[in-house]
Amino acid sequence: MSIEAVQDRPTPKPGVLDIAAYVPGKSTAPAGVSKIHKLSSNENPLGASDKAMAAVRDTAGHMEFYPDGSATVLREAIGEAYGLNPANILCTNGSDEAIGLLAQVYLQPGDEGIFTEHGFLVYRIYIQSAGGVPVVVKEKDETAEVDAILAAVTPRTKIVFLANPNNPTGTYIPFAEVRRLHAGLPKTVLLVLDAAYAEYVRREDYESGVDLVKSAQNVVMTRTFSKIHGLGGMRIGWLYGPEHILDPLNRVRGPFNVNAAAIAAGVAAIRDQAHVEKTVQHNETWLPWLTEELTKLGLRVTPSVGNFILIHFPPAEAHSAAKADDYLSAQGYILRRVAGYGFPNALRMTVGSEEANRGVVAALSDFLKT
Ligand SMILES: *Cc1c(COP(=O)(O)O)cnc(C)c1O
Repeated sequence: MSIEAVQDRPTPKPGVLDIAAYVPGKSTAPAGVSKIHKLSSNENPLGASDKAMAAVRDTAGHMEFYPDGSATVLREAIGEAYGLNPANILCTNGSDEAIGLLAQVYLQPGDEGIFTEHGFLVYRIYIQSAGGVPVVVKEKDETAEVDAILAAVTPRTKIVFLANPNNPTGTYIPFAEVRRLHAGLPKTVLLVLDAAYAEYVRREDYESGVDLVKSAQNVVMTRTFSKIHGLGGMRIGWLYGPEHILDPLNRVRGPFNVNAAAIAAGVAAIRDQAHVEKTVQHNETWLPWLTEELTKLGLRVTPSVGNFILIHFPPAEAHSAAKADDYLSAQGYILRRVAGYGFPNALRMTVGSEEANRGVVAALSDFLKT
């Protein structure tokens, strides 16, 4: 349904109705499918840590109490895990909230926010919500390109969002390139490094951004518990940045933005590094396996360092991404359509359980013979 602004009732402010609402990954299959493998939202196939589950159960007995509005124990646990000062950490209701707060605080109507061609779509939504102008920069080989970003900067640019690695491509840029990007930006432009998949990356030339945040005045890093920690349903993210940026964010955020169960889950999860390691090992086994098997089927796969892969389908209509999606869904394999990200003929697949991974490869092999 499209809603029009009319005179005789309350009207959203200009721009709001131009926003295309975020479409989350599907979680259902057609009727009659008995077992569903949800591979559409980059969730952890091993689930959350047992310790996080136990911690949440413990909170159920005192739901009447408001949470600590500064999520102190969670900031301390994160600080301990990564060697960071908790005073430079802000916990949020998913990292989406951190992205939204940054846009709200740093963009005035008409200011420009930059992100790249196949970048995470949440950036566009929050830039528009703040009245800002989304500026989309071309990528090269499905990877962000520093020179193109720098060329797009104007006196109206206030913020640059870079997901490294990016979703849905799974590609990344080496940290030397991130530094070159920072060096080329005016000091008044805020660089947001979205490191939602940092824990999965096993590359010598990759860094999430901690050192750059420490040494600069205009860089923040966002992180999430939704991916490696398997806590998407709890909505926990965090931002690491200088105090002069955390201060205004703290003024505008909801006073109890992270709930009590989420705080407990997050503390237990980040202390359970064995579960993190097990998750990384699972990914290290199945990401290359999927890449190889799908390539053997003749499908192009974008090289990924995350916990998901982008699978490109042949141009022929009979074997299009849309047809593949229907074929897989009918067998309970739910992948992600990514037309909104500029990939009308690709599907994004989360690295799943062994059963799911083998099942998708077998199903796609059959599909390509149809
Ligand atoms: C999943 C994801 C997030 C995290 O979102 P949450 O709100 O923390 O669940 C952030 N950025 C990117 C690029 C993602 O893919």
